[in-house]
Amino acid sequence: DLFYRQLPKVELHAHLNGSVSFSTIEKLVARKPHLNIEHGMTAIRSGQRRTLDESAVDYPEFHTLTTECISQMCFQVFKVIHQLVDTEEDILMVAKDVIREFAADGVKYLELRSTPRKEKTTGMTKRRYVETVIEAIRQCKNEGVDIEVRFLVAVDRRNGAEVAMETVKLAEDFMLSTGGLVVGLDLSGDPTVGHGRDFLPALQKAKNCGLKLSLHLSEVPSQADESELLLNIPPDRIGHGTFLHPEVGGSQSLVDKVRKHNTPLELCLTSNVKGQTVSSYSQHHFLYWYQMGHPSVICTDDKGVFCTDLSQEYQLAASTFNLSQEDMWTLSHKAIDCTFAPDLQQQLHQKWLELQPTLF
Ligand code: IMP
Repeated sequence: DLFYRQLPKVELHAHLNGSVSFSTIEKLVARKPHLNIEHGMTAIRSGQRRTLDESAVDYPEFHTLTTECISQMCFQVFKVIHQLVDTEEDILMVAKDVIREFAADGVKYLELRSTPRKEKTTGMTKRRYVETVIEAIRQCKNEGVDIEVRFLVAVDRRNGAEVAMETVKLAEDFMLSTGGLVVGLDLSGDPTVGHGRDFLPALQKAKNCGLKLSLHLSEVPSQADESELLLNIPPDRIGHGTFLHPEVGGSQSLVDKVRKHNTPLELCLTSNVKGQTVSSYSQHHFLYWYQMGHPSVICTDDKGVFCTDLSQEYQLAASTFNLSQEDMWTLSHKAIDCTFAPDLQQQLHQKWLELQPTLF
């Protein structure tokens, strides 16, 4: 729908390697024929944008697995993508393609997140990894791509507390050396692995040195204790928060903490439905938080893996919850206040007023 494509949008929850489009994957596969990446090894290769009905056909495996298996399956997909993206040239291409694609979809402000990765075989270091993403952001800016991009350094919970602490140090260095392009830290990775308490010292350190925190919280059931603990920091934004509220096994105390700090939620409809942590679009917790007027930002999570884009997510939210174009405009406008770039907010508000569609 043209309205949603033209609507200026803010994307706050996008994992770099989950955002790689089908066409970029094809370029990567052509670069690495020796890898023998077969059709069906990644959700991406099965391709193009899907309608909701088709998703049942495209993801037959997803419908017979338990939540835990599904989460494992998504993480298998990331393993394949990581095999395809293992040199600085790959990172540069992937990051530039992803930024251009978000811009083409009408995203005016993007916060990308990615886990710094070292690849022994190609000599890529974690530091070069981050430098290369930053280079991609700078090149897009110089090429006049109409989008502001900031970066969150991601901590993968599977790698444990020690790596998390090293990652925070790396993020702090880059926050200082990039003139504000690195704005925060993300905690992500397989939610069934590890416990948040192990990451408290690293997260606290990040917060103390001025990095903003966006934490994946309560993405699967059974994380209530962890969320209780991590909400005390408190984080600056929450990823997913699927199981925070009492109706789904969370608690009023968790909801109260989120509300007390007015902590924005990053909500990813297609990702949660395809990942089967939410049973259908109409059951998505977007409604719970939106109805109480809590800051809720619609995001894509992994637009490549889940074959979506931000316009489609806005359109889905509107059609599922019967929201008007004006409601969606307000939602996209309010997202500006949830970004980790306070220096840009005034400029973005101005841009939104200039770009306001005249359809409603
Ligand atoms: P990367 O950090 O750019 O390599 O993007 C892929 C990574 O993002 C995965 O390996 C996970 O650590 C993380 N990720 C992507 N989607 C999700 C999610 O839905 N939950 C938790 N972690 C995720």
